Amino acid sequence: MKIDSLQSWGVDPTRPLVISGPCSAESEEQMLETARGLKALGVQIFRAGVWKPRTRPNMFEGVGSPALKWLKKVKEETGMLTATEVATAKHVYEALKMGVDILWIGARTSANPFAVQEVADALQGADVPVIVKNPVNPDLELWMGAIERIAGAGITKLAAIHRGFSAFEKGRYRNEPRWQVVIELHRRMPDLPIICDPSHIAGDSQFIYEISQKAMDLGLNGLIIESHNNPAEAWSDAKQQLTPAQVGEVLNKLIIRQIESDNVEFKQSLDELRQKIDVLDNDVLNLFQQRMEVVKEIGKNKKENNIQILQSGRWAQIVEKAKKEAAVRGFSQEFVENIFKAIHQESINIQNRILNS
Ligand code: PEP
Ligand code: MN
Repeated sequence: MKIDSLQSWGVDPTRPLVISGPCSAESEEQMLETARGLKALGVQIFRAGVWKPRTRPNMFEGVGSPALKWLKKVKEETGMLTATEVATAKHVYEALKMGVDILWIGARTSANPFAVQEVADALQGADVPVIVKNPVNPDLELWMGAIERIAGAGITKLAAIHRGFSAFEKGRYRNEPRWQVVIELHRRMPDLPIICDPSHIAGDSQFIYEISQKAMDLGLNGLIIESHNNPAEAWSDAKQQLTPAQVGEVLNKLIIRQIESDNVEFKQSLDELRQKIDVLDNDVLNLFQQRMEVVKEIGKNKKENNIQILQSGRWAQIVEKAKKEAAVRGFSQEFVENIFKAIHQESINIQNRILNS
């Protein structure tokens, strides 16, 4: 897959590349006032939702095509590049006709291969940057599939947006970041720029900074932050939007760390620590192996005595104990639970093979 650098978009790709603007375009005045504030911060790309795919009916679904004029005004007045979300072929044609510079595919659209293909077909022959948000569900294959469909239309100015994943039970954030999905996307598509959307992960303006910092610490290329001249009155996503001044505060606070260092001492000590980690990882695997040998013994005993594999009482005990240990050792419960779930699954698989051999 051919992927051009961010520079080819006509922007300075220094991290973080910042895209900012309101969740939804509401009026010319709101757009221009917000854009002026963001331009003053050095923001290079102005975003605004023209067509809004809303989860429930009877919510504000965007002003639609008339808002494209306002994006054009923003571009003319500030010189910022403009970006909007497209979900249908009609959106693509109208946005391109009105000179929108960058298109993105929203999370609800990238979850639907028919919709993505319709957008891709409409993009044939266009030379426009396209950013693909992750689908609402944590399915890396589906996300990559959406990117591949757009690439298949000949689009080479590509990027991804990480906006988190929806969950039935709400945690600290509106959407779960599940950073490991993004790390894996980067491993599978190393040339693809990745932009973090802390606004839709957070769902609340108070968390924008911490998520942005995490994204920078993981080496992501940019941030797309929702900004509104008057967040409290916003017609969509009011809770998570920042004023342009607040976006400035977040950006000023960010610490951008280097990918590598020339410092010899630092490199040496890092090497040594990594060697230690390698040895410890090996120890961990050896212990797992020993554990699984015991599991096999149990499996044989169960087979001889005709006992079922899953003993849920015993399993509940292990999880409870692990949670207590997590607190003592300063690990998160999630980490310890995940490890024990994985160990338990592998143990069941091993015993299954024994019982059925
Ligand atoms: C948006 O960017 O305003 C939006 C609708 O985001 P998402 O598709 O990530 O929900
Ligand atoms: Mn939004």
